[in-house]
Formats: sequence, C-alpha cells, structure tokens
Amino acid sequence: MTGEGAVATLPAGYANGENDMDGATTLTGGCLCGAVRYETRGESFLVNHCHCHSCRKNNGGPVVTLAGFKASQVTFSGAPRRIYNSSPGVSRAFCGTCGTPLTWEGDSGSLGAIVELHISTFDQPERLVPSAHAFYSERIAWFDVADGLPRYSGFVDGSTPLRHGPADEGLPTTA
Ligand SMILES: [Zn+2]
Ligand SMILES: [Zn+2]
Repeated sequence: MTGEGAVATLPAGYANGENDMDGATTLTGGCLCGAVRYETRGESFLVNHCHCHSCRKNNGGPVVTLAGFKASQVTFSGAPRRIYNSSPGVSRAFCGTCGTPLTWEGDSGSLGAIVELHISTFDQPERLVPSAHAFYSERIAWFDVADGLPRYSGFVDGSTPLRHGPADEGLPTTA
C-alpha cells in the first residue's frame, strides 16, 4: 500500500495504485461489511459525478461518483453481489448482507460491457479523480460543487457541456 501523501502529486485523472508485474494499476474495494470485494486492473476510462435521478435514488445521496471500467478489468470476490435490474440492460449490484450499492453495469456501446463502481466503495477513492459531471440537468437544484469541471446535460459523450463550473443563478429559495 502506498501512503496518502503520494496522492497530492498525482495529475488529475491518473489512477494510482499497486502495480503488478506488467505495470498495470490495480485498485481494490468492497462493501461496508466486507462480504463483497472487488479488484480493478488498469485505468478507468471515465470517473464522473452522476446527477441522474436513478443513480441518486439507488445511492441515497445528492450525487453519485462512479469510476468506469471494462467488465474484463473487474474481478469480484467473496460473497456473490446481488443484482437489481433498474432498467432494461442495466444492472445495479449491491451487497446482500449490508446493502451497500456497488455498481452500475451494462453495455456502453463502443466499450462493450462495462462496470461503473461507486467511488466510495474503493479502499482508496482518492486515487480516482473525477473529470466531469453527467446528467447535470437532473441535479437537485440546491446541489452544486465549486469545481471547474464540464457539466453535461446527459452522458459524458463528447457533446458540448452545458457549462463549466457551478451554476451562477444561485441556490433556490423556499417559497
Ligand atoms: Zn456488505
Ligand atoms: Zn446516473
């Protein structure tokens, strides 16, 4: 394990971690109770905040941060993860013991089968740095963060972001 002190020197988006024999980065994580564990190998193709209604409902928080990997980069161990199919072709995995939401899993199109892991289930989430906001148009109106990252109306797909940085119209006021 490398120390926390190394994190600050990493360039944005660089996923540090343990390196195996051929230099691929591996990261580990799991649920709150530890029954379900996973390991990722190689770089995440995207780390992003998702404001969509489904992710928020699934997670319970005002925003969800996910790190995406090809399914072939992710190995699960321990207890089998439970799967909830939240929409056709979309699986959301969780721990059957403690209920921790773990993944969004589905077919991404160009990358094939992908597994997006909830950032706070990683043992060292600091090592995966977000680069964008997805489904900004669905965010809770009072929620924003003071980063300068691009904010997309829907998926982070190469389209023109709605904006960079937090909304400037201010927070909503109660009636
Ligand atoms: Zn668990
Ligand atoms: Zn989402």
